[in-house]
Amino acid sequence: MTDQYAVIGNPVAHSKSPLIHGEFARQTGQDISYTTILAPLDGFRDAALEFRDMGGKGLNVTLPFKHEAWNLVNERADYALDAGAVNTIKFLDGRMVGYNTDGLGLVRDIKDNLQCPIRGKRLLLMGAGGATYGVMEPLLHEQPGQVVVANRTLDKAVRLAGHFEKFQRFAAHGVSVRPYEVLGSAQFDLVINATSAGLSDEMPPLPDAVFAAGALAYDMVYGKTTPFLRFAQARGARIADGTGMLVEQAAESFFIWRGMRPQTAPVIARLRGEG
Ligand code: NAP
Repeated sequence: MTDQYAVIGNPVAHSKSPLIHGEFARQTGQDISYTTILAPLDGFRDAALEFRDMGGKGLNVTLPFKHEAWNLVNERADYALDAGAVNTIKFLDGRMVGYNTDGLGLVRDIKDNLQCPIRGKRLLLMGAGGATYGVMEPLLHEQPGQVVVANRTLDKAVRLAGHFEKFQRFAAHGVSVRPYEVLGSAQFDLVINATSAGLSDEMPPLPDAVFAAGALAYDMVYGKTTPFLRFAQARGARIADGTGMLVEQAAESFFIWRGMRPQTAPVIARLRGEG
């Protein structure tokens, strides 16, 4: 029988996950179906359990349910534990195991696809929402030189840094929190925009000199050249949107469910309209 998977969210119609997992299944010859589930805002738990009870094998979870999914599962694996968010659920003999593959997806895209090592680099991470929580631990495990977290609402960045205190030692020069306004003349090799500002064609207020020579500017928002990416490009930085992260986090989910690693490059190219 065909194994059933789905992405659950609200809204969810825009999700690229059915296309991505459809490509992975075709490539690897796996017999799966992958659909979308629009759950009511107060109905995540019921919808997820109904899918499981109908024989579903796994779910991807998107906004705004990642924290509810973290609460729902019986076990939290790897990076899900500290992220406080689950984006992948595997239904296994009556148990629900939760994973967070967003951070691994980001790290793979930066290191492998974009060939930009993170170790020793000066990293500016913008944002302190769910996406930042998801990527913080995997980024710190890459042993960057220095990490600065900036956020419009400073309190949230302070809370985030405190939450990940036990991992701060992985960054050679530690993790600090700064408002955008006091970044001053500090320069960074890797600037990651984990805010949702780009969705509304805005960007955090960055100083002009923020990009070191050869810096990579990465926006987790995918499918568009955001104001942040335009700003970075105009100042000589390399730029990347979040398409690669999206596909890599999906590949990690596929591996968790099916035990196989699909090729991501052709799927990234297809999403970018190049394939
Ligand atoms: P969230 O929890 O709502 O957090 C939003 C963050 O953006 C907050 O830190 C917020 O600052 C900041 N922000 C929003 N508008 C801003 C503006 N105009 N100027 C400065 N800061 C602004 O959202 P999230 O779940 O973290 O998601 C963030 C983004 O990551 C989304 O756009 C999502 O699409 C993307 N994402 C992509 C992938 C992928 O696979 N590519 C995966 C996960 C997430 P305040 O705290 O001050 O409000």
